[in-house]
Amino acid sequence: MKSDLIRPEIAALPTYNAGLALDRFRARYGIDCLAKLDSNENPAGPCPGVVAAIRDEAAGIARYPDAGNGALREDLAAATGSTADRLIIGNGSEDLIGAVFRTVLRPGDHVVTICPSFGLHEFGALASGAHVTKVPFNADWSFPVEGMIAAMASEAPRVLMFSSPSNPAGPAISAEEFDALLTATRRDTLVVFDEAYLEYLDPAARFDAMARLEAGPNPWLILRTFSKAYGLAGIRVGYGIACDPELAAQMMKARNPFGVNSLAVAAARAALRDTDYLAHSVKLAADGRVQLARKLSDAGFACAPSQTNFVFFDTGRTATDFAEALRHKGVLIKPWLEEPYTRWARVTIGTEEENRHFLEAVEAIRCPA
Ligand SMILES: *Cc1c(COP(=O)(O)O)cnc(C)c1O
Repeated sequence: MKSDLIRPEIAALPTYNAGLALDRFRARYGIDCLAKLDSNENPAGPCPGVVAAIRDEAAGIARYPDAGNGALREDLAAATGSTADRLIIGNGSEDLIGAVFRTVLRPGDHVVTICPSFGLHEFGALASGAHVTKVPFNADWSFPVEGMIAAMASEAPRVLMFSSPSNPAGPAISAEEFDALLTATRRDTLVVFDEAYLEYLDPAARFDAMARLEAGPNPWLILRTFSKAYGLAGIRVGYGIACDPELAAQMMKARNPFGVNSLAVAAARAALRDTDYLAHSVKLAADGRVQLARKLSDAGFACAPSQTNFVFFDTGRTATDFAEALRHKGVLIKPWLEEPYTRWARVTIGTEEENRHFLEAVEAIRCPA
């Protein structure tokens, strides 16, 4: 290829560290996957109403979907206490991470996030020509609020973006920390608060981030997804709540007009209605997490405290080697590739059976027979 064809920002990006699809796993390792715990999916799958809704919608797919995603935005306005004109739907919330960066970033802009970080928070910014400061978590895994404030003071960012509960680490920011951070953020910085794991957050640790953002002067965007607790990762649908209709409308222009397909919209609307199923999924993850984290700790692995459907832990060796050894036992987890966490891996909470397979495989690769 002619060497100057590719934009340098794109050429410098790594390939995304995605989980391995089940058919690819079988093709590569020649065994069935016993526990797919590498992508934070809901092991219980979608609720029954979702499958029925997709089937009902299927006959209509000769038509383009509603480019404005009106029906789902209205449902979400009611569910979130926002208004439809401030909601934006994406082909997964990762689509909206890209869209918001394309909407606001100029080459040379500064973006602040945390470390370990959700890859797209960094790579999406780099792709738009920004530079990124990643502030490491405190040693006790509390949110590095002071470090984030210092990073913003040394160069005012266009965007402050992070997830809470955090992927991949697991902890959640407290209301007091959130307030301190907002107070110290320059008023022209866009605050993007990624709540992909909100549903898993311990009710005692919850606070109304939207109300707090609304009370402050900054522009803001909250991101949520149907991929995790709602069990819809394969159909790709997430949403954003913007500070005002203007930001949502501008982001719509930076997104593909028909990027959210009609089956995804039908699935999301059905998933929203089944609150019992959501509660069941969250409980499955919470119970499994407590058990799995305890067993990992008992076995001598340091774990970050988690408010999510996964546990981030120190494998004690190069995480890619550890994860590869588990794959040969039929277990998939995600080794972390970001310095200084390359000994750490993230394991999703699966069914009881999958969690057991994982723990047995960990035991087996430590003490090879
Ligand atoms: C999974 C995840 C997302 C995006 O998920 P989509 O499938 O694109 O909706 C966004 N942010 C974080 C932190 C995530 O873990």
